[in-house]
Amino acid sequence: MSYTFKTNLANKNNYGSARLDSVIKFIVIHYTANDGDTDENNGKYFHNNVVNASAHYFVDSDSITQSVPDNYVAYSVGGKKYNNDGGEYYGKCINYNSLSIELCDDKKNNVVYPTQDTIDNAIDFTKTKMVQYGVNKTHVITHYQVCGKLCPAYWVDNSKWKSEFHNKLQGWTKYNNNWYWLDNNGNIVKNSWIQDKNKWYHLSSNGIMDTNNWIKNNSGTWSYVNNKGEAVVGWHNLSWKNVKSWYYFDKNGIMVSSKWVKDKGKDYYLTSSGSMATNSYIKSTSSSVYYWVAADGAWQPEWNTNTPDLKKYKVVK
Ligand SMILES: [Zn+2]
Repeated sequence: MSYTFKTNLANKNNYGSARLDSVIKFIVIHYTANDGDTDENNGKYFHNNVVNASAHYFVDSDSITQSVPDNYVAYSVGGKKYNNDGGEYYGKCINYNSLSIELCDDKKNNVVYPTQDTIDNAIDFTKTKMVQYGVNKTHVITHYQVCGKLCPAYWVDNSKWKSEFHNKLQGWTKYNNNWYWLDNNGNIVKNSWIQDKNKWYHLSSNGIMDTNNWIKNNSGTWSYVNNKGEAVVGWHNLSWKNVKSWYYFDKNGIMVSSKWVKDKGKDYYLTSSGSMATNSYIKSTSSSVYYWVAADGAWQPEWNTNTPDLKKYKVVK
């Protein structure tokens, strides 16, 4: 699933006036009703002909063509209300506050139906627009839901619309080279962790997935996300205020602190800041014994002592 992005603007008589991006509240899904057409054909058609109709985008199996800029009103959902079960958004979703996306059918086979690649591209692209305009799933609707026109005819059946398109408007979305996560309602998750395929990821206050960064959890504990955004587990050599140290993260990605951990038969101490202790004493919590950890961090039991030379050696907590 991937697409190249193209622009071929429609004749200016096919669309309306400029608008602010902030007025976009709905994303409307259409079909071109053709058997065997492409986004490029449609782009050309609306560029070369004055038909007083338009849509912002046309999608097919391998590309998407922009025909009307987002910040201009397309003539796409206006007109009468049909006398059928559709049209529940009539009067609420209008040309002025909506963005229209048309699905082509680039496989000519006497059936008007988009390819799975076209559907996947349209889902992917719609999600980027949901992020861009803060439109959640409840406001991604079919033309049929706007006025009852049988568009797309194959998704007038609400259960098909849900299962083939609408239910999939969630999860990871890449917009402006940043990753976002849409929850089950299509809202951008912010200030929160999400779990995907057994990995944890953190979404920042603006919804962008954090990478290569320390994350302070609500409980006061710390985690670290790597360049893929995944919360790391196990040992990691990381910088904190330009000082590199070894840190250890449990299976949930929580940094271990003020604790011993055993690894391959050796014991290591993570200090209160989480950094692994080296060349230091750690005092027992239950006796007067001081334990020595060497340069590699491993405990050296033969150096256990009750009388460490604390002028020469440091004690860490
Ligand atoms: Zn339509």
